[in-house]
Amino acid sequence: MKSIIQEKKECFFCGKTDDLHLHHILEGRNRGNSDKYGLTIYLCSYHHDMSDDSIHFNPIYDKLMKIIGQLYFERTYNEEFIDVFRKNYRED
Ligand SMILES: [Zn+2]
Ligand SMILES: [Zn+2]
Repeated sequence: MKSIIQEKKECFFCGKTDDLHLHHILEGRNRGNSDKYGLTIYLCSYHHDMSDDSIHFNPIYDKLMKIIGQLYFERTYNEEFIDVFRKNYRED
């Protein structure tokens, strides 16, 4: 499924259009659900995992993106986020 968060193929953080990686907002056991429900974004390598300013090394970015992902999910689907992902990123 295509991303429900992004229309264009560009870095979600800086808008760069080359050197892009597809990032799954929820990984591990929820990686498949991230694909299924379109909770993916493109990031340039710098913002993906090649710097301290990247989503894989900055926990604040990661948490923020998970909250945004949950909000988009709730706006898009009639299912409960917690029923699908067994997580709620909006409670703390
Ligand atoms: Zn970037
Ligand atoms: Zn990633």
